[in-house]
Amino acid sequence: MTESQHPQNTDAVDGNASANIADWFAGRSRVMFVHAHPDDETITTGGTLAALAEAGREPLLVTCTRGEQGEVVEGPLQALVQLHGLPIARQNELKTALGMLGIERHVFLGVAPARAEGLAPTIYEDSGMEWSEADPESGERRAIPSPTTGPDAFTTVPAVEALNDLLTAAHAAGAQAMVSYDNGGGYGHPDHVLAHRLSRAVAAALGLPFWEIVGDDVTDAEVEVASVDLASQAESENEGADPRPIETYDVSNWLDRKTAALRAHQTQLVVEGDEIVHVGGQREPIRAHERFRRVVGR
Ligand SMILES: [Zn+2]
Repeated sequence: MTESQHPQNTDAVDGNASANIADWFAGRSRVMFVHAHPDDETITTGGTLAALAEAGREPLLVTCTRGEQGEVVEGPLQALVQLHGLPIARQNELKTALGMLGIERHVFLGVAPARAEGLAPTIYEDSGMEWSEADPESGERRAIPSPTTGPDAFTTVPAVEALNDLLTAAHAAGAQAMVSYDNGGGYGHPDHVLAHRLSRAVAAALGLPFWEIVGDDVTDAEVEVASVDLASQAESENEGADPRPIETYDVSNWLDRKTAALRAHQTQLVVEGDEIVHVGGQREPIRAHERFRRVVGR
């Protein structure tokens, strides 16, 4: 196919999209992104990470698990994964992806400097998930904990341990803002829900602003209503403002790098044109606009 048959993905609502990186995350420099598994950072925030890094804003990335429970894309990689193990494969993929995005400040939760003082390093394992039965009324399926969740899983280990690790990481790195999923974990994966809770708690403890990633379940109409014009938004808290404003960042200049980073996660997904195809066959567009909602108050 020619390029013209694959026009770049343009999201429906981009009227308020800001391409001025200086305004993003209220101009905070060291923004700490907390993601559950390798590939989440690129799928949901890859363009933003690349843009911030290129602008010299020193974004920080914490990955909570190594995605041990991910399903592997069919084909020759399956043999490779059997040989070396999925965690090794996914760590290598993440490293390659972060090279594409220009992210140098990355740590796994449980390993110094993302480990509470005096404790030996640990590995928080992917909790896994499965889809619930369809809700009889909405027909909706939710991600729920997997019956195979192990004793070392992120959601099994006492949360206070992971919380102390993340607090240590944020404090040591001098984080100036926190970013993670919404309170439903985006789509309900237990590891994503926990990443939200820990990040929110650390933001509260350190007095940092917290932005949640706005997922595809938010309609364009809702985005339009909740959009803010960053240029006119002051850094100081504006008591009269909408407490849940949505900020849309235009990352189309970094779409090529985001796409290259996505391709690095080759055990988990396939890039077809301007779409991501997941192992289960689900498709989603590679977004040229990434959205965040600043969460005010508790
Ligand atoms: Zn994930």
